[in-house]
Amino acid sequence: VSTAARPLVDEDGGFNGAVVVYTDVTGWVEALAANQELVSNVSHEFKTPLNSIIGNIDLVLDDAGGLPPQVAHRLRVVQRNAERLLALVADLSASASAALNVHPKRTDLASLVETTLGSAQAQAERAHIQLSADVPSPLWAYADPLRIGQALDNLVSNAIKYSPDGGTVSISARAGGDWVQLSVSDTGMGISREDSTRVFKRFFRTEAAQKASISGAGLGLSITKMIVEGHGGTITCESGQGKGSTFTVTLPADGPPPSF
Ligand code: ADP
Repeated sequence: VSTAARPLVDEDGGFNGAVVVYTDVTGWVEALAANQELVSNVSHEFKTPLNSIIGNIDLVLDDAGGLPPQVAHRLRVVQRNAERLLALVADLSASASAALNVHPKRTDLASLVETTLGSAQAQAERAHIQLSADVPSPLWAYADPLRIGQALDNLVSNAIKYSPDGGTVSISARAGGDWVQLSVSDTGMGISREDSTRVFKRFFRTEAAQKASISGAGLGLSITKMIVEGHGGTITCESGQGKGSTFTVTLPADGPPPSF
């Protein structure tokens, strides 16, 4: 049930009662779940044939010596595009399940940061980007380690992808009474003020990213936002064109009190 309430105030500003509207949103929630299930099923069905295309081209290219160079070149283009399609399908299926499958528990964010940096190391080295973290260990939060790990992977991988060679990507942390924050900062192309909320919408990509021919589907940040909000947390983007970006995730430090 969704609830909306408004006070009734007389001409002198005195309180005269209230109007409360209860709306049954069962149909809407069911439609949303069905929609997400459909996307999830369709993307799952796409994976098998795509993997078969990629695997078979791999086999043919292994023996590329016997192929005319033109044919080998065209096969590599097909393979690259099949891989892009597979990545898009993986993003779509993640975006369908992100909101539905969050299982938070007491989790050390410092060890998630370490894992994320470990898996981003190769991508960073290729782009000559320095990775660093200043996070106290342990740093406890009420989080689903799989999902928040996925959110951190997205933020760090974007930070590397949208930074020029020689840049820096750093992760820092802050903790308040009942919340914990992780920030991922980069020295990259930045995001204009108007775009800094749009980047969380499905399929949105900045003009700068497209002009620089950096590939992407515009899904990662919408998935990241769904994951964070599925924890009762928030995500914000602080940036300016050409000024680098900082994405900050705020999560609850503790779960609900035990019920007796
Ligand atoms: P993708 O990177 O696949 O396009 P995302 O949803 O992760 O999709 O990001 C949406 C858009 O936000 C990107 O296309 C890019 O324009 C912008 N963006 C995301 N992260 C950064 C960043 N760290 N620096 C600059 N732009 C970014």
